Amino acid sequence: MPATLLARNALVLVTMDGERREIPGGGLYAENGRIVAVGRDAELPQGADTVIDLSGHVVLPGLVNTHHHMVQSLTRAVPAAQDGELFTWLRTLYPLWAGLTPAMVETSTLTAMAELILSGCTTTSDHLYIYPNGCRLDDSIRAARQIGMRFHAARGSMSVGESKGGLPPDRVVEDEGFVMRDAERLIGAYHDPARFSMLRIVLAPCSPFTVSRDLMRETARLARSHDLTLHTHLAENDSDVLFSHQTLGMSPTDYVRELDWVGPDVWHAHCVKLDEPGISLFARTGTGIAHCPCSNMRLGSGIAPVHRFRAEGIRVGLGVDGSASNDGGHLLGEARQAMLLQRVANGPDAMSARGALEMATLGGARVLRRDDIGALAPDMAADFVAFDMSALPYAGALHDPVAALLFCQPQQVALSVINGEVVVRDGRLLTIDVAATVARHNAMAAELARQAGA
Ligand SMILES: [Zn+2]
Repeated sequence: MPATLLARNALVLVTMDGERREIPGGGLYAENGRIVAVGRDAELPQGADTVIDLSGHVVLPGLVNTHHHMVQSLTRAVPAAQDGELFTWLRTLYPLWAGLTPAMVETSTLTAMAELILSGCTTTSDHLYIYPNGCRLDDSIRAARQIGMRFHAARGSMSVGESKGGLPPDRVVEDEGFVMRDAERLIGAYHDPARFSMLRIVLAPCSPFTVSRDLMRETARLARSHDLTLHTHLAENDSDVLFSHQTLGMSPTDYVRELDWVGPDVWHAHCVKLDEPGISLFARTGTGIAHCPCSNMRLGSGIAPVHRFRAEGIRVGLGVDGSASNDGGHLLGEARQAMLLQRVANGPDAMSARGALEMATLGGARVLRRDDIGALAPDMAADFVAFDMSALPYAGALHDPVAALLFCQPQQVALSVINGEVVVRDGRLLTIDVAATVARHNAMAAELARQAGA
């Protein structure tokens, strides 16, 4: 007998299906984590193992986060790193991150995932690129399994330290041979390519200013031999572009073209300063982008031309980016910022509430190269969230409850279901003890700062 779940009577259920239907009084029925039916009450089976009444709630497909560095949750609002641009900010924080331990990776990943889940996110990527003191990607994966989140774990890397012209201190970079062997180990141990997969491995050298051309090429070769996706940072701000011209002798666009780091299996974070040839290249090759508005604003990097990206048909998803440059992980809030920031650059009709929501759901799913999440329809994953519209911030906004989620102060979810499992109910995360995690996390954050003398 399959495990069945029926959620019904939503104020509005947003499907993000092919017709972008929004169903008043809608609900869905799922078996073993897979949606079987979506519609009004009369169109759904009347019973199930788990029945959830969603009256007064707006239901969305679970949001998808395409860029994060969860360990940075331990170094939020660090005084010395509050007001610098990207490179200064990184140089200030590398010494703190050098003290990370496996337990810190696991706890900070739990913290970051708890925050994301409560903000409406059900699938996330995490780009872990620093591995001091025996830290491994396995530490993040353990956390994802514990909390019950759908996870694209990116094996990041840094191999070019200061002595070789890179940005990070030598003591935090890794040997390239080891990086490749570890990537192969992780693929063998964890990667699940199947539909409805809860865990995929991504290969993700940190950035053009922290790894060699060789490592970029070798990583792409390995990823493509296993049909994995590839991820890195690109054209984040002016100093990033300047480094590219001065050290690599070419623009970020020419660099990724030369290395064949473009295509439907690749997505780049930020692209705030992607040039016109880059926009054409991405559109032509199906290359994706993770847009991280809060981080871009926090570091003063600029306004990514998302309006252009979308007009050109480029795959764009949202990312909260690392918690040290956000300094949070509220994905619905990120969608709101994306909407507002495009309006700053291009006028009030540059991005609608529904456009922002589409980027946060379908857009993210496409960036992660998934066809089983991002929409609520038969044969999609039962990943959905519900917001209680009786909350104070939505008072007076019920003329359009869906738009209210974006225009009004972002709230936490009342309900989150991931892979058919109820993970949040009545606003409470059921899979971990949040208070105990926060207490442990704060002790670890203090320890990191103490070790680094920050
Ligand atoms: Zn990043």
